[in-house]
Amino acid sequence: MSEILIRQAALLGGPKSDLAIKDGMFVDPVDLDPSARGTQLIDGEGLVALPGLVDLHTHLRQPGMEQAETVLSGSQAAAAGGFTAVFAMANTQPVADSVGVTDMVHRLGQEAGYVDVRPIGAVSKGLAGEELAGIAGMAGGTAKVRVFSDDGHCVSDSLLMRRALEYVGTFGGVIAQHAQDPRLTEDAQINEGALSSRLGLAGWPAVAEEAIIARDILLAEYTGSRLHLCHLSTKGSVDIVREAKAKGARITAEVTPHHLLLTEELTASFNPLYKVNPPLRQDDDVQALREAVADGTIDIVATDHAPHPSESKECAFDEGAFGMLGLEVALSVVQKALIEPGHLDWSGVARVLSQTPAHIGGLAGYDNPLTVGAPAHLTLVDPAALKDVQMRYTRSGNNPYGHLQLPGEVRHTFFRGVHTLADGRIVPADELPGVAK
Ligand SMILES: [Zn+2]
Repeated sequence: MSEILIRQAALLGGPKSDLAIKDGMFVDPVDLDPSARGTQLIDGEGLVALPGLVDLHTHLRQPGMEQAETVLSGSQAAAAGGFTAVFAMANTQPVADSVGVTDMVHRLGQEAGYVDVRPIGAVSKGLAGEELAGIAGMAGGTAKVRVFSDDGHCVSDSLLMRRALEYVGTFGGVIAQHAQDPRLTEDAQINEGALSSRLGLAGWPAVAEEAIIARDILLAEYTGSRLHLCHLSTKGSVDIVREAKAKGARITAEVTPHHLLLTEELTASFNPLYKVNPPLRQDDDVQALREAVADGTIDIVATDHAPHPSESKECAFDEGAFGMLGLEVALSVVQKALIEPGHLDWSGVARVLSQTPAHIGGLAGYDNPLTVGAPAHLTLVDPAALKDVQMRYTRSGNNPYGHLQLPGEVRHTFFRGVHTLADGRIVPADELPGVAK
């Protein structure tokens, strides 16, 4: 039975208050005896208290690519970044297109014990885009999958997309689409424009993303089902989503930390660290994406944490893998890109990095953060810290922020009242209570 008292942290960046945790739940601080043996005291002075962060878009790479990441290493990276839940994408080997794989990923997450690992199921068998995956089985398994995505690939067949939307609509699920017209992006390496011409790299036009987003919004309206749009990267995508929401479409959208901060100029180095799908775009896209988070057009920030082994990034640009790390640095990027310019305050951060992603993914326990009676998912961040960006817990090294100093440092994370990150250090696995240890 653990009792924890956090003194004088700024709740959601607002007034300072004490927070108390007992048996995994927030309780009234007056109900704890701070002098009792075994009560853990944490000085919250200078720290902002946020609800545990929820990432709707993570690649954990297990099964099949454990040299890049495992459920355990990814869970530790997540806890180090202040997360208490991650949704794990289906493009593993084998693909998470059946209940056997999704239930296994879920069980590995429980055994690790750092965060709630919620598997995402594939939309199509083998991500091949031809035949629907075992959606009903995955939804009915112990992991109770609610989010389905072929991420890494686009569901480009309109009929398959229609059927998938209709199917998940019967049980309140959601299709998360990776919007990329495959024909318009054959061999594409970076954003299409003057820079791609100058560098002699095949360009990735904005319309390849925007055309699929426009089509899928129409299909979502036609079927009445829920559509979530992954990693928006262009100003045009923002305009389409804004217009559709004004008309009442039931859609949600996300942006990654890297698309909120980095631009295509970095790719002029020909360093595959800056190669990502969708590609880094231009300044006016970044500004439009930031403003879209501020006005609610974009609902959430999701990391698209994409670990790769070094050989996939230490090579020629056009041979490099697409993807960037994100879990350990997401909150710092959000502080830099959204808080410092005044687009969001800390309660807005709680909304886009915890409450709304939990809601989209069907995850309970995040509706009334930091309140008595709610599960104790808690992140304490020191916003005044300035740090070189190092990735300490992921197995991979594809960090695109190594040239930057970023603000903010996560000091403590509690997952259901369990201390997973203590004074900036991950609590070792054998010291966590965990499940089935
Ligand atoms: Zn994607």
